[in-house]
Amino acid sequence: MTDNKNSICTGKPDSECKGCDLSGHLMCRFQKLDLISFLLLFAPYAVLSIGAMITGGFGWYLTGWLAYAVFFFFVWEAYVLCRHCPYWAEKGIILRCHANYSVIKIWKYNPKPMKTSDKVQFIVGGLLLGLYPLPFLIAASQYLLFSIALLLIISFIFHLWKNGCSRCINFSCPLNHVPKRYVDSFLEKNPIVGREWKQ
Ligand code: SF4
Ligand code: SF4
Repeated sequence: MTDNKNSICTGKPDSECKGCDLSGHLMCRFQKLDLISFLLLFAPYAVLSIGAMITGGFGWYLTGWLAYAVFFFFVWEAYVLCRHCPYWAEKGIILRCHANYSVIKIWKYNPKPMKTSDKVQFIVGGLLLGLYPLPFLIAASQYLLFSIALLLIISFIFHLWKNGCSRCINFSCPLNHVPKRYVDSFLEKNPIVGREWKQ
């Protein structure tokens, strides 16, 4: 494991990006607008699910969703996914990125790609988090709201995959589909990561 805080271009001053041919092709600098878009994309599903669980008599179970979300974002997902991301290598204890902004970085950065077991855990953990409210809507016989919620979460995942995962710099994430030429170029610019990917 390598401690390479701030030696990846993502964590360097904006002036480093002048003339970079990857600029505009990757989400390699933190932009508030990317974070806002991410939250707005998830909001309709969250609002509908929360409202439906409360009106369906399962409001108390939202504490389970909240507790699991905190565990997932801060511990589990952070370990299997985010600690491999160049954003995790930036200076400071608080993560700044377009999706998990404000997570406390309890794990050490690891520039190696995710292992298969990491990827499986990320998918399983993410599905548990995303689909948590749906069984409660079925239990409350809220079939219309269930159908809308299902469409909303599918739409969220699709838009995230299409517009976010095509530009995200955590290249070993199972959802990532950045074109290879951009991946190669980023790894070339950041040999400390590139070296780990060649092993
Ligand atoms: S790849 Fe690095 S240098 Fe190029 S635009 Fe992104 S953060 Fe800047
Ligand atoms: S961009 Fe994605 S993988 Fe990287 S730190 Fe943020 S949430 Fe984790």
